[in-house]
Amino acid sequence: MKITKNIHALKIPFKVNISPDKIAERFVYVYIICGKKIWLTDTGVAGSKKMIFDYIESIGKNIADIESIFLTHSHPDHIGSAKSIKQECGSKVYVHCLERNWVEDVDLQCAQRPVPGFKNLVEGSVKVDGILKDGDIVNLDENLSLRVFHTPGHSNGSVSYLIKEEGVLLCGDSVLSSNQMPVFDDLAESINSVKKLEKINDVEILLSSWDDPCKNGQIQDVFKDSVDYLTRIQQAVQKVAAKENTSDSMEFCKNIISELKLPSVMVNPITARTFQSVLKKIQCVYTE
Ligand SMILES: [Zn+2]
Repeated sequence: MKITKNIHALKIPFKVNISPDKIAERFVYVYIICGKKIWLTDTGVAGSKKMIFDYIESIGKNIADIESIFLTHSHPDHIGSAKSIKQECGSKVYVHCLERNWVEDVDLQCAQRPVPGFKNLVEGSVKVDGILKDGDIVNLDENLSLRVFHTPGHSNGSVSYLIKEEGVLLCGDSVLSSNQMPVFDDLAESINSVKKLEKINDVEILLSSWDDPCKNGQIQDVFKDSVDYLTRIQQAVQKVAAKENTSDSMEFCKNIISELKLPSVMVNPITARTFQSVLKKIQCVYTE
């Protein structure tokens, strides 16, 4: 789907085996930036290469022109196909320094953040060619630049990208919309990052990994909605922690998902990890 003169969105569906009897249907967006060359933000899950290449060819472009892959972060549904795309096109891979280890060593990522079905979602480790930091501006073409905003919270090294000339902000997983599966490492940082993005001027289109493109007029509502949702999650964790035993993390997770009136498929190790991160911060405040 063409979004602006130079930016295209590709929605990639995939399935996650949460447990032997539970399969979650998910999707992730990959964005294709076209100019004299081609640049990708994220690569979808393992096996997405064909969809990405078919799309690029369908718009009359050449896959050999994929110069770089700008990762928003290291999670499986973002780095999944980076290995084969890099191998085939010789593309350079860029990411924030705090995500580098998990891109270059996916076994380490799987051990430290064991997402269900991890091995099926990622093709393998990928060598990072360049490190991005907050404020970096990468000149893609004469009239096309990519500015990096460090937006931690969802993960430590999550970044968002502003393509100023097109009025487009690519936020990866940094903006959690209401009723989406709560996945983040630090709630306070997530809120700060949304507020940071909210202050960027002249954003006409917001492109996230988990949501359909959002146009000017709705964008501020999306940011507000995200902060409200994150605040509700914090309150739910506080409420459940005050009355239930928190020692069984899956039971604790189940109670919070129910408190938030979210679907039961969201009771899983990923959200359990999210709620434990919030709980840890609350317990720190109590003991300080
Ligand atoms: Zn993620």
